[in-house]
Amino acid sequence: MLSTMQEAPLSIAQLLRYGSTVHSEAQVVTWTDDGSRSASYAEVGRRCARLAHALRGLGVTGDQRVGTFMWNNQEHLEAYLGIPAMGAVLHTLNIRLFPDQLVHVVNHAADHVILVDATLIPLLAPRLAEFTTVRHIVVSGAQTPEIDLPDGMTVHSWEQLIADEPDDFDWPELDERTAAAMCYTSGTTGDPKGVAYSHRSIWLHSMSVCMTDGMGLKQGDLALAIVPQFHAMSWGMPYAAFMIGASLLMPDRFLQPAPLAQMIAEVRPNFAAAVPAIWQGLLHHLEDHDDDVSSMKLVVVGGSAVPPSLMHAFEEQYGIKVLHAWGMTETSPLGSVANPPAAAEGEDAWRYRYTQGRFPAAVEARLVDDDGAIVPKDGESVGELEVRGPWIAGAYYGVDAADKFDDGWLRTGDVGKITADGYLTLTDRSKDIIKSGGEWISSVDLENLVMGHPDVLEAAVIGVPDEKWDERPLVAVVLREGSDTTPRTLQDFMAGSIAKWQLPENWARITEVPKTSVGKFDKKRLRADFQAGDLEVERI
Ligand code: AMP
Repeated sequence: MLSTMQEAPLSIAQLLRYGSTVHSEAQVVTWTDDGSRSASYAEVGRRCARLAHALRGLGVTGDQRVGTFMWNNQEHLEAYLGIPAMGAVLHTLNIRLFPDQLVHVVNHAADHVILVDATLIPLLAPRLAEFTTVRHIVVSGAQTPEIDLPDGMTVHSWEQLIADEPDDFDWPELDERTAAAMCYTSGTTGDPKGVAYSHRSIWLHSMSVCMTDGMGLKQGDLALAIVPQFHAMSWGMPYAAFMIGASLLMPDRFLQPAPLAQMIAEVRPNFAAAVPAIWQGLLHHLEDHDDDVSSMKLVVVGGSAVPPSLMHAFEEQYGIKVLHAWGMTETSPLGSVANPPAAAEGEDAWRYRYTQGRFPAAVEARLVDDDGAIVPKDGESVGELEVRGPWIAGAYYGVDAADKFDDGWLRTGDVGKITADGYLTLTDRSKDIIKSGGEWISSVDLENLVMGHPDVLEAAVIGVPDEKWDERPLVAVVLREGSDTTPRTLQDFMAGSIAKWQLPENWARITEVPKTSVGKFDKKRLRADFQAGDLEVERI
């Protein structure tokens, strides 16, 4: 029997209409080099309509792709809403991709127009001649810099382009399964691969961001969206904010600890989301500066494992709750969130909060071993995490990547265990795990441990060849300036928390852990540095 319910399509146009009317007074605040500027959601709604008209004028029809090469700011929010609402596909370009990869993704997605922040023109301009489908560059920012344009490409000022356009747009009715936005993976191996999100998947994902046991974003929040809009859709915050009536604070290009602390003190957000490296930086900044961060209540942290020491420091010193979450570009990106069970208290609750969290009902998860067998969810058995659900990618755009899927499940490449009550603990990326004498050592566990030492600023662990054990861990450690802490002291510090055979004996002091285009530890580079003999390794 079929249901008797309506089949109203879920669409970004509906989100835009709802947020800009029902929550018309909510604000998007953008940080600038001279304080902040704001616009109401009503104003954002009008500007989205004008942008859509302007893009039609540039020949954007049907599901053509419109790229954005932008920081987190008001105009990027308008692109997020206006482009999918008009039926076109928003393609967020990662400004930190290596130039060849940038050219690849622009051409692969066949972007027709690229919207770009004036401050980012120097990064984009040198490669324009290699973009085969781009006809228009639209520049956001006070001044449109001189650009050397290839034939057939025109440059426009965003503000001039939309100045005379109408404030409303007849948003088309779309099939909810059509693509609304796309984002390419950061591509640590091979070319980046495109994930195309549907109107439906974005809607359902946004609801999960707003669930109390999701990220818990709610009406009236002022959310500091540090996670970039150019990577993994800023964890869905722009859409969720319009859905629930939360205001947004956009940091634009001011992502260093000092301006972040200043904008928190002045604009007083109560919610934020960012990768651990940002919070580590802010924490160290706050040790020497007394910026007022008392407005902040909840920060969602993911993208890499969060060291427990970071969670405790924020909670105990600043009263800021750190909520650990796991996800990936392919999962929209929110997968699991580490809200502890209501009954858990004290140390027990902390243990749940250290994990990568629990999946919502919509996302199914399973673990698979090297032979393809499903391993039990007993909190001990380890396997590769596979997921499926309505906001999980089922394919990549325009490439055959059958090896990334397993009978309809997405193979995440993450390795971990799941408890009977559904909490995921990741032990590694499958390629990062260290196999020592046939036994696994989690590089993440070692990093978390050593980063708990007060003299350690950052530490990344890789496996290095070992005659006796095949592989042993090497800790590349960044110490606080002036610190004379030795590897032996750090090893003693770790002893007692892990099995003795797991204690690392290879240490290298470095000045900074190399990072990928999206700010994660770049272990590929660290391995290459090791192989090239560029790391000064001390064996203890
Ligand atoms: P990306 O698609 O660039 O966002 O990267 C997704 C990958 O980041 C995942 O497959 C994990 O390897 C890693 N990741 C995301 N969140 C976490 C987390 N909370 N803990 C450990 N690794 C994470």
